[in-house]
Amino acid sequence: MNVDNGISPVSARSFPLWQLSRLRMATDGHGVTALVASFGCPLNCKYCINPQSHGADGKFRLVTPEELLKLVEIDNLYYLATGGGIMFGGGEPLLHADFIAEFRKIAPPEWHFYAETSLCVPEGNVLTAAGAIDHFYVDVKDTDAGVFERYTGVNASSTVIDNLSALLALNGPERITVRLPLIPEFNTPASVVRSRARLEDLGVVNFDLFTYKI
Ligand code: SF4
Repeated sequence: MNVDNGISPVSARSFPLWQLSRLRMATDGHGVTALVASFGCPLNCKYCINPQSHGADGKFRLVTPEELLKLVEIDNLYYLATGGGIMFGGGEPLLHADFIAEFRKIAPPEWHFYAETSLCVPEGNVLTAAGAIDHFYVDVKDTDAGVFERYTGVNASSTVIDNLSALLALNGPERITVRLPLIPEFNTPASVVRSRARLEDLGVVNFDLFTYKI
């Protein structure tokens, strides 16, 4: 698939950091986490919650794995005491799967790694990230291809479903939570039910159902 994320080149040594949020609790993941958010996203969701994370005028800085470690290891004791760690978000963090895998190699092994992703990335990125992330939060949006394209501006529903199938086979369903939102003006409660049934057939067991507030 062709992904235009506005960041070129990407590599295992360079991560476009646009937001670092320390000491998060009671959000995603477990324990205390640091949100490490990347710039750039292949989608253009109508109700994007992080519009600063992509687009022509975005602000970010490139960091190496060692520079990122310095920024987040200051909270090491909190991660260890609570079973927390690092949450990669965005934008689309799996565009930087090579970097995440490289970062995991130098981070303390006790840290837990999480990622919030649309899975709208090349399959190779998913395979790389699967070995580095403990738990994925996958924002599927809706399995109806028409709804997905109208909402995101991209015809990529089949890419998301194919990548989710690959991830389920690699990491198992317990390490994946699928987000299925009710999206005002784009889908309906009935289509959310249809999406859930289709995803259960694929093997998904953990769902986060909610309604977008606009
Ligand atoms: S996937 Fe996330 S960051 Fe990308 S456009 Fe959609 S809501 Fe925004």
